[in-house]
Amino acid sequence: MQLKLLIHRKVENMKDYRVPSKGGIKLSNYSPDDTSVYHSEKDKGKNKLEELNQELESLQEMLYAEGKRRLLIVLQGMDTSGKDGVIRHVFEGVNPQGVQVASFKVPTSPELAHDYLWRIHQKTPGKGEIVIFNRSHYEDVLVVRVHNLVPPEVWKKRYDQIKNFERLLAEEGTVILKFFLHISPEEQVKRFLERLETPEKNWKFNPGDLEERNFWKAYMEAYEDALNKTSTDFAPWYVIPSDRKWYRNLAIASIMVDTLKEMQMSYPTAIDDIETYHKRLLEMTMTGK
Ligand code: AMP
Ligand code: MG
Repeated sequence: MQLKLLIHRKVENMKDYRVPSKGGIKLSNYSPDDTSVYHSEKDKGKNKLEELNQELESLQEMLYAEGKRRLLIVLQGMDTSGKDGVIRHVFEGVNPQGVQVASFKVPTSPELAHDYLWRIHQKTPGKGEIVIFNRSHYEDVLVVRVHNLVPPEVWKKRYDQIKNFERLLAEEGTVILKFFLHISPEEQVKRFLERLETPEKNWKFNPGDLEERNFWKAYMEAYEDALNKTSTDFAPWYVIPSDRKWYRNLAIASIMVDTLKEMQMSYPTAIDDIETYHKRLLEMTMTGK
């Protein structure tokens, strides 16, 4: 209880939601409706998000122009936790050129014929790109574990395999951020209801998702294990309080902006004879040729 209050109140820097590399976190100590120093002030949060959106827009442009490094964002969370919402709101205004979304569904036959990282590796970002994973290779230690889709001796090896895979990406110049969108089961019911009561949202309701709720506890155990075993310096996990959509977006935008700033990017230097070209172009405008 004490720890819960601590986490609820102390977070001034969104990066404090980071899962330490040594692991050991308990999800029950993280409140999904935490709004920390924003104290439920939605308007203040929304204004800040607008600022961050603009910063993100110019930082992404620099990443693209520099064309050296890559950014991979992993979004995981239970149904309705807001993976799609983050993609829509956090990246609002960002130039779609250079940003891609990869959604991972139930694997197809060709995907199942390969190792589980095969389909993932193909979608990782190229130089200068941001790729957002809507679900990811973590499904292979989450849904796969909860539903015994492979035997335990197979999924248990995957934590180390995933860490090694992410280390490879990081060593080759990919910055990786992983976000677990933490919602409460009570908030999930509200969101399912909203999907049923809003005609425009009906399509999002999948009766199968309701069945998954029965496995909530098993999912939380699987998430806790994944977070503790695979949060590293080169690919950290963040537990994002996601019962309030505005705060969820704010936390993620803020961590992304901080991370991009730390990359200390710069625009490539201009060509040597910029003066000559400038003069030529000015002459063209004057002579109309
Ligand atoms: P959605 O994200 O709502 O479109 O749903 C995608 C579904 O695909 C979810 O139920 C995931 O659990 C499922 N899924 C994604 N990856 C895997 C995987 N590797 N194995 C089994 N199911 C998966
Ligand atoms: Mg779904």
